[in-house]
Amino acid sequence: MFGQVELLPADPILGLIEAFNRDTNPNKIDLGVGVYRDAQGNTPILQAVKEAEALLLTREKTKSYIGSHGDPAFGQQLLPLVLGQDSAVLQASRATLTQAPGGTGALRLAADFIHRCAPGKKVWISDPTWPNHYAIFNAAGVEYASYRYVDSNTNRLDFPAMLADLQQIPEGDVVLLHACCHNPTGFDLSLEQWQQVLEILKARKLLPLIDFAYQGFGAGLEEDAAAVRLLAEQLPEVMITASCSKNFGLYRERIGAFIAVAANRNDMEKVRSQLAVVARSNYSNPPAHGSAIVATILANPELNGLWRREVDDMRNRINTLRQQFVDALKPFGLAEKFACVAEQRGMFSYSGLKPEEVQKLQQEFGIYMVKTGRMNIAGYSEQNLQYLCKAIASVCG
Ligand code: PLP
Repeated sequence: MFGQVELLPADPILGLIEAFNRDTNPNKIDLGVGVYRDAQGNTPILQAVKEAEALLLTREKTKSYIGSHGDPAFGQQLLPLVLGQDSAVLQASRATLTQAPGGTGALRLAADFIHRCAPGKKVWISDPTWPNHYAIFNAAGVEYASYRYVDSNTNRLDFPAMLADLQQIPEGDVVLLHACCHNPTGFDLSLEQWQQVLEILKARKLLPLIDFAYQGFGAGLEEDAAAVRLLAEQLPEVMITASCSKNFGLYRERIGAFIAVAANRNDMEKVRSQLAVVARSNYSNPPAHGSAIVATILANPELNGLWRREVDDMRNRINTLRQQFVDALKPFGLAEKFACVAEQRGMFSYSGLKPEEVQKLQQEFGIYMVKTGRMNIAGYSEQNLQYLCKAIASVCG
């Protein structure tokens, strides 16, 4: 049987990593893979995580199962981080959280839940988006379609087109929205623009599924949650998928959560019961180490403070790198062409580089990024910024 199995091409990002590892150019730069890097090019373990792990080593008493919804302490800590300390939704017991293996696992729970409880509903996704969104809904057998997000001529957010497309979505369908740090473009909506999106969601009775993978990487932990909180407070039903991969640097521990906000406590309990079944049939129980770390950090005032400072440092470094990139392109007359890089938020940037320019950067300079021109801003550093900008000037010239 295996002989008849089709050989699939490698995932484009994995292919990029392999090509990067093979490249012998001493100046090579990896702007492809989506992980944070410090000035030395490392993806460090946060100090708050190290200290939480030290505490866990002495405190942990069992490795028994943690249940389909995960560790209750994790849920208790993450809900206010996402929805706000004084959330009316939390006070009314309208929200339920199911721990998941990363933001990806949370999205799969959402997709399976939609398939199970709202069959026939389509999910509307921004064009472009994180490619795994398509793969996850495909795997769950949920149909999807796109709404416009970027003007391909100007390489800027096309908000009027987004609104026009949202207005055409059939009543009751699901709309996937990036809460902040839109991947791959880096273009986020202002609060006024979110208000306009909210009005359409209300008018057309659309159900938002908010992908919240980068809390703290845009404007701040509280600021980045503004859209999530606005929609959760103003709409009867909202779904949120949170990830602790980036903001806790816990990528490989696989820790995230699916949150459902229901119209009332009774509906919340119904949704919660379905999610337990969905989780059980996927992986039974989520992994425990990541949730124990997050719960320990958030519950401990000292570790919480340390973690918040570390998130601030990561965000400030990325935003500084964005500005330095545009400044370094000034001598080449390219500052205006790439000005959007300083305005975008999060780890990624739609640079506007064309596929042939991306290819040249790879072949001639050992600079690797996704074909669409998406750059990981944390992939370069102060040390190789000049090399990067010179190379860009050479391929854009
Ligand atoms: N959603 C978006 C938009 C992402 O960019 C990512 C990761 O890159 C995820 C979700 C999932 O993250 P993870 O499964 O690593 O927590």
